[in-house]
Parts: sequence; C-alpha cells; structure tokens
Amino acid sequence: MQATVRLIALVAVSAALGWTPAGCGGTTFLIGHDQEVQIGQEAAAEFDRENKVDRSSADARWLQGIGDRVAAAASPPDYPYSFTLVREDVNNAFCLPGGPVYFYQGLIDTLGRDEDQVAWVIAHEITHIRQKHAIRRIERAIGAQVLIEVLLGGQNTAREIAGIVGGLALQDYGRDNEIMADRLACRWSAGAGYDPTAGLAVLAAFKQIQGEDPSDFEILFMSHPGNTTREDAVKDYLGENNMSGRYYP
Ligand SMILES: [Zn+2]
Repeated sequence: MQATVRLIALVAVSAALGWTPAGCGGTTFLIGHDQEVQIGQEAAAEFDRENKVDRSSADARWLQGIGDRVAAAASPPDYPYSFTLVREDVNNAFCLPGGPVYFYQGLIDTLGRDEDQVAWVIAHEITHIRQKHAIRRIERAIGAQVLIEVLLGGQNTAREIAGIVGGLALQDYGRDNEIMADRLACRWSAGAGYDPTAGLAVLAAFKQIQGEDPSDFEILFMSHPGNTTREDAVKDYLGENNMSGRYYP
C-alpha cells in the first residue's frame, strides 16, 4: 500500500502545482479523511526533498505562528496543518491535501512582510484544504476507475500512473473555488484577529506582479478569476459581513 500511496502523492504534487486532466470527469469522493492526510504528507515529503524548505529560522517560525492562529480560527481545525517557508524568490503559495501549506519567500517579500496580508493568503489556502478542493482535483486527475483500482490494491503500475500524470494540462482549482477561497479567507483571517481587508492589498499586489512577470505568476494564479472579479467578490463579502479595516474603511 505504501508504494501506491507514494504514486498518488506524486500526482498530488502535480495537482498542487497546477496539473489536472484536459477533460474533467464528474466529482467523486473516493479518498477518505485519513488517506487524504496521508497523501498530503507523502506529497509534502516529496516536495521537501527537492526544495529549499525552512522550518527552523526566525522567519519560518514567524510564518508558522501566523498559520497556527488562522488554522485555529478556521473551525473546526480538522487537519494537521503545517506552514512551511520555501527559500526561493517566487511569488507563490500553495497547499497540499490534508494540511501542508507552503509559502515562498518571494511572496512574503512582495507583500512587504505584512502579517495581515500573509494571514489572508494562508486563510485562502486553508479554505482549499478544508473544502477538499485539492483532493477532489486529484480524484478527477487520476480518474475514478484507476483510483478505485489503486485504492483496492489493484495492478496499476508506476508507468500507468506516470502516463496519466504526463497527460495532464495546466489548470487551477477553478473560478468558483477561488472566489470561495477569497471570501472565506476574509472570515478566517478576521477570526484570527487579522485585518480581513488585507485581501484587497494582496489582490492589488497580484495585479502588479501579473503586469511585470506573468510567467512567474501563472505557477499558481494563472487560471484564477480576474483580479478585478476577485476584488469585487472580496468587497461584497466584507460589506455583507460589516467588515472594515485599513484597505476597506
Ligand atoms: Zn486558490
């Protein structure tokens, strides 16, 4: 079973980085909570081996502290969340199923090391985890039939799985899921005591990055809805919930 979970974990990494099949099938819910967590852990171990991750410096502990606060507010905190700094100049943050969140140094710098903005991005990723967006995407990516066989310990080989991964195309969680993550990011960051309007500052920064360096930006945010659409959705949510702050008086 360990080997097959590892294969799924590789697909999980691919999915987290933006790979899903060209044609999506229907939504299935074949992977249970424990397996979801295990897949995320395996995928995280794989990512850790190949990237400059930092969990011990003052910066890393600062990030983990913000993440812990937001995770505690996102009730119930039903996943073993972790918040890991990646020491690379990349404007990106992403999550894996079941808890791991990765935050690149480049994005922290872009956001001016602003705690409210970092908290909002973390809350966005936590929403993807809580709503099972990541694991559902993997289910779609692998395909129900293959997934059933793998989970039942069937005869699928590494080559077959690799073939599936090789046929995937760049995508994201989809427009509706991104809007949902943006809206709930305001709720969880506010619940943790951060300024929920910082989301508007984050989106303003995204706009600027998109103009300057679309190739860097597309790693995570390529098929996110347009930033103006996202800003409008965030403003609607803030208004509906009587939230105000530095960026939305
Ligand atoms: Zn997202």
